[in-house]
Amino acid sequence: MKAIQVEKFGGPEQLKLADVPTPRLGRGEVLVRLAYAGVNYIDVYMRNGSYARSHTYQTPLPMTIGMEGAGRIVEVGAGVSDLAVDDTVAYCLSRGSYAEFAVVPAWKAVRVPSGMDLAVATALMLQGSTAHYLSRSAFPLKRGDTCLVHAGAGGVGQLLIQLAKRAGATVLATVGSEEKARIARACGADHAILYRQSDFGVDVRRLTSDCGVDVVYDSVGRDTLPRSIRALKRRGFCISFGASSGQPEPVPLLDLAEAGSVFLTRPHLADYMTSADEIRARAADLFSAVAEGALRVTIDKVFPLVEAAEAHAAIEGRATRGKLLLKTD
Ligand code: NDP
Repeated sequence: MKAIQVEKFGGPEQLKLADVPTPRLGRGEVLVRLAYAGVNYIDVYMRNGSYARSHTYQTPLPMTIGMEGAGRIVEVGAGVSDLAVDDTVAYCLSRGSYAEFAVVPAWKAVRVPSGMDLAVATALMLQGSTAHYLSRSAFPLKRGDTCLVHAGAGGVGQLLIQLAKRAGATVLATVGSEEKARIARACGADHAILYRQSDFGVDVRRLTSDCGVDVVYDSVGRDTLPRSIRALKRRGFCISFGASSGQPEPVPLLDLAEAGSVFLTRPHLADYMTSADEIRARAADLFSAVAEGALRVTIDKVFPLVEAAEAHAAIEGRATRGKLLLKTD
């Protein structure tokens, strides 16, 4: 089959189309003929070696990358009883989706409801589940809370703003341009802050009557984390869940006390997707929100598989506004 392989950690040029053996099915797994692979920032970290020492997201070279996909089951392994050949499924957190076929642990696959656009279902698996666990589990938002969402026009950002509004929170979002500010506001953000033009810490203080926010969802990392911590209310909660601008400097513990005895966590999605029940519950919530018209997914661009490197250059170059997909069939 055709697949995008990485033989050496590095830039987008390391993504090469190759002929590789179709993966072999094991017990408890299904073989999926992929229609789409989702492109996510985690693919950038896996390609450039940032996760070389991660046990959660292993990157043995050479490897086929891609942590999200959707398509039709063409073979079912021993011990799988709740999925069948010809089921349409979507999944995430199983590596190897930049390919024509992928073997997926059955417990990670979710049946796509009939009538749901497969591109949308793909987009909901990784970025959607992330927005879901951040706003419903890591810091469950409630009416009256105020949150700050960085990169509010991004894939996770757009979904997180919408889920936060659905929970009744006031949402402040940072964005890289005026055009992205319009996108964040269209998702429901109460305020969009141009963090490349002003100090977002000052803006947050002004917009919250000097009080700070209950929670910051920080996916940007190096450029934002120290100021995110200082933008919190006393005993507020900072979730550092990504590093689009690079890994942040270590935070001295006393800084947390000085910021108002605040909390800081650095979660992996995998720790909030630990069983079939947990994965399917998040997906069911997201699928029904889309079906009710309460959640909108923006598919920014669909690239052919062979253009995976262009897709990576776009996401790293801040040129995307929503989901990037690769068409794999
Ligand atoms: P995005 O669509 O959000 O793209 C990244 C965005 O980050 C850019 O568009 C840009 O928005 C912003 N950004 C700020 N500084 C930089 C920089 N120096 N270089 C590039 N981008 C920058 O990507 P995703 O939605 O796929 O992922 C968002 C984040 O969430 C990533 O950091 C990812 O690692 C993280 N993540 C974490 C998970 C977890 O469980 N820990 C799971 C899934 C995703 P702007 O121009 O507005 O600044």
